[in-house]
Amino acid sequence: MLGRLLRIVRCWKGGHRWDDWRKPVPGSCLERRRCGSCRREEERERHGFGPWDYPAEDLCDCFRACDRCGLRERQIRHTFGGFQFESPEGCCKVAECTRCGQRRTRNVHMWDIGGSGPRTCVRCGVTKGERDSSEEDA
Ligand SMILES: [Zn+2]
Ligand SMILES: [Zn+2]
Ligand SMILES: [Zn+2]
Ligand SMILES: [Zn+2]
Repeated sequence: MLGRLLRIVRCWKGGHRWDDWRKPVPGSCLERRRCGSCRREEERERHGFGPWDYPAEDLCDCFRACDRCGLRERQIRHTFGGFQFESPEGCCKVAECTRCGQRRTRNVHMWDIGGSGPRTCVRCGVTKGERDSSEEDA
């Protein structure tokens, strides 16, 4: 009696004694397991997705399907190359998707470190710091 009580207290604290995951429905990706102490059940889905497939040559829309239950997932998956500086003086780096051409940009400044006060970028000359609070954050 006491042992059973202790087991249930352990379950209350989240320490369930789960059996192995089982697949109760053939051809489905549903899995279920049960706690040997309090009989609580848990369910999850574990799909066996194949590789992503791009149906259109120059689009990044892609699909994959589960081998077992046939569930399909859709995702936009771009293939970005590395970020490169857009121009020699600027600090804007651009990466382009090799499939659809979509661009991503980010600013990568080269701050002149040394001393306190505002920092200046040695590439584009933008300044960032606390001395002049009216300055726009670059
Ligand atoms: Zn339990
Ligand atoms: Zn599935
Ligand atoms: Zn793309
Ligand atoms: Zn800069």
